[in-house]
Parts: sequence; structure tokens; C-alpha cells
Amino acid sequence: MTTAPFRRVLVSGASIAGPTLAYWLHRRGFEVTVVEKAGAVRGGGYPIDIRGAALGVVDRMGLLPAVRAAHVDSRRITFLDADGSAVGAVSPESVSGGTGGDVELPRGALTEVLHAAVQDDVDFRFGDTIATLHDDGDGVDVTFVSGERRRFDLVVGADGLHSHTRALAFGPEEQFHRYLGYCFAGWTMPNEFGLDHEGVIWSVPGRAAVIYAVGGTDQVHGFLSFTRDDPPLDAFRDPRAQRELVAARFAGDDVWEVPRLVAAMQEADDVFFDVVSQIHMPRWSTGRVGLVGDAAHAPSFLSGQGSSLALVGGYVLAGELAAAPTYREGFARYERRLRDFVAQNQALADGGRSVIVPRTESDVARRDAALREPDRTRIPTGDAVDRAATALELPVYPGAVDGAA
Ligand SMILES: Cc1cc2nc3c(=O)[nH]c(=O)nc-3n(C[C@H](O)[C@H](O)[C@H](O)COP(=O)(O)OP(=O)(O)OC[C@H]3O[C@@H](n4cnc5c(N)ncnc54)[C@H](O)[C@@H]3O)c2cc1C
Repeated sequence: MTTAPFRRVLVSGASIAGPTLAYWLHRRGFEVTVVEKAGAVRGGGYPIDIRGAALGVVDRMGLLPAVRAAHVDSRRITFLDADGSAVGAVSPESVSGGTGGDVELPRGALTEVLHAAVQDDVDFRFGDTIATLHDDGDGVDVTFVSGERRRFDLVVGADGLHSHTRALAFGPEEQFHRYLGYCFAGWTMPNEFGLDHEGVIWSVPGRAAVIYAVGGTDQVHGFLSFTRDDPPLDAFRDPRAQRELVAARFAGDDVWEVPRLVAAMQEADDVFFDVVSQIHMPRWSTGRVGLVGDAAHAPSFLSGQGSSLALVGGYVLAGELAAAPTYREGFARYERRLRDFVAQNQALADGGRSVIVPRTESDVARRDAALREPDRTRIPTGDAVDRAATALELPVYPGAVDGAA
């Protein structure tokens, strides 16, 4: 239990990093408030993976059975060439690693499990956002968009790639944003494709169209990703401009299900459009404000490791803050523990892009040659993901009360 003079912590964001941090801070005697801009816990969503060190975090929370129950058990990913013919089909583990009982589940299902584990112990404020932060050295005065004012000892941003907390405490996102040269749109649509526990990826240099049947449900996730030299900043606040941008990039791709995907994207009411980017920062804290998960070091979906980094980050930050004599030391130790692990996992995005959205004809040819190998059970990214995901030995903190059975 902490006796630290920095017990009152505000966490911004209730997706993966936020509830994990809140859970472990509470277990170690901190008084935690979580503010989330969405009106409620957001269920559903695209599938994410928990693997390597992150499985240890979930296990120590006693949540492994609950996340395993939501495992979607994808069986196959089929890659198509330019004219829509199958090049090869592999197991998902071949692409994304998976020797150690990885779990794949909808992002929102993980959020629901994490939230349920901590909701009775932590003050959740849904439908609100930090408006201003003022760190005077002895504490942080916070005003919320709802109008309320509170004072906290520490504030931690767990509010994702475009973190608002980061912008308030560290300045504009551009300083830390590393655009990887891709944009994407994702949405859900009826499963009119007869797909079951599987994904299909069509790609030509610079463009990929994906249908992913998460489990045997009636819905599939559609996904269109493409290269673009500059991030389309103009389209950011305009959903119509986003759809038009995506549709224009796939115009003329009258092959396979691409036209149907483009049409569905234009009709869908849950389109999620973003750039594919990473966050690289020289420091993950300034004064009494820290960052965790994507807010600190988003690796992009091309790494397949964002959720696992968010889980590990929440666990390690809570452990280090509880064990350290000062919050500055706690933030510094958290960073020392994780820097190398994060760098190795961010580097996976290079492999991911050459498999999912190859940029050039030679990238496509290299990937397809691996898929055509008789022993194609493992194309190169899978091994690299396994190495990076297990590159951290999860610390056990003195005095920690662990939830593992
Ligand atoms: C299409 C796609 C596919 C992906 N696939 C994978 C995968 O296969 N494997 C994997 O590991 N990862 C994957 N990821 C990445 C993964 O989703 C993220 O890395 C992970 O969710 C990061 O968790 P987080 O808690 O740090 O941030 P986020 O999940 O981004 O959550 C941020 C939270 O903060 C809230 N918020 C935002 N702004 C504010 C504000 N101003 N005030 C209060 N709250 C705010 C948001 O509503 C949200 O709840 C994928 C991502 C995308 C987009």
C-alpha cells in the first residue's frame, strides 16, 4: 500500500491503458478518478491481440478466464492478388505471432472486462473531458468541460493516439507524431460474404481492402487502407471528406469485393477514419502529468501490439509510482523499464506494413513468395512479433497485491 504523498490521481481515458492503470493504482492504495469523453463504456470494435508480457498483466488481475471467454478464435487469413485470386492462406499466428496462448478479442470486449474489474473501486466520470490543467508544483488544478474544478496530485493521460492530455501538458501533437504514410477507414457491415472466423486481404502496391469476420457473427469488419505522402489534415473534421478521400483512392478497383466495400463504407454510420501513425516522445512525463499507452507511444495497428503495450504500461506505471519515494522517481523508473520494450514493439510496424499494405511491387512479390512456400505456416512477421512481445520480464512489485489465482 502506498504511503506516498501523491495519492489522488486523475486518469484521462477509459479504454485499455486507463482502466488497467486505475485497477493497479487502486490495488496499491491510490485514490483514482477516471474521466472518459464517451458517454459509456464502448463495447464491440475491431479485434485486438493480447500477447507476451501483456498476458501476464491480465493474469495477475485474475482476468485471464474472462478475456479467454471473449477469444474470437480466427482460423485463417487469405491473401488475394491484384485480380482477386487467392495467393495463399495462413493461420493468423503466422502473421501476428502467437506461440504462448495469445488472446484475440474485440477491443471493446477487453474494455468491458477491465472496466468491470475496477468500476466499484474507482470514480468513473463518463461524458466529460479535461478542459484545463495547471500544475503549480504542489498539485494539478483541473477544470472539466462539465464545469467542475478539482485538484489532484497527479494526472495521467491514457487518451490515445491523439491524446488531449498530451496536447495540454506537452504541446501540439505534431512534435511527437510520426506519420507512417498510410490512412485507413474501418466500419462494420452485414456478413454477406459467408466468412466465418477468418479474414481476407486483397492488396496491390499502396492499397489494401480487408474483410474480417470476427467469430461467426452476422457482422464483418470492413477495412480500407492506402498510402498517401502527406496526412490528410483537411479531412480530419469532416466525415464526408474522409469517405470521399477513401472512395477516390479505390476508384477503378473493380475487382473482388472492393466496390461493395467502398459502397458499404459510404453508407455505414460507424466509420472510423484515421492516419496510421506512431507517437515518439523524449519523455513520457512532465512535472505531475504523465502519459500511458498510445498517448505516450502509439505503435500503430501495423505493429499489432498497441493493446499489449497499453496493458503493460498501465501495470508498470502503477507499480513504479507505488514503489518510488517521489512521483518524479516513479515516472522516471516507469520510463526506464519500458523504453526498450516499446522501441522493439514500435519497430514491428515495418514488418506489418509490408505484409498488410505492401508499398511496392517488390514488397508484394516478397510477401507472395513467402505465402507460396510449401512451409508457409510462418511468414516473417510472426517470429518478430513473438520476440518483441516477450522482450520484457514483467516486474513483480514489492508489496503488490496480485489478483492471479
Ligand atoms: C483499426 C485498428 C486495428 C487495431 N488492431 C490492433 C491489434 O490487432 N492489436 C493490438 O494490440 N492493437 C491494435 N490496435 C491498436 C489498439 O487499439 C490501441 O493501441 C489501443 O487501443 C491503445 O489503448 P489506449 O488505452 O492507450 O488508447 P485508446 O484505446 O485509443 O483509448 C483512448 C481512450 O481515451 C478516450 N479519450 C480520447 N480523448 C479523450 C478526452 N479528451 N477526454 C477523455 N477521454 C478521452 C477515448 O474515448 C478512449 O476511450 C488497432 C487499432 C486500430 C485503430
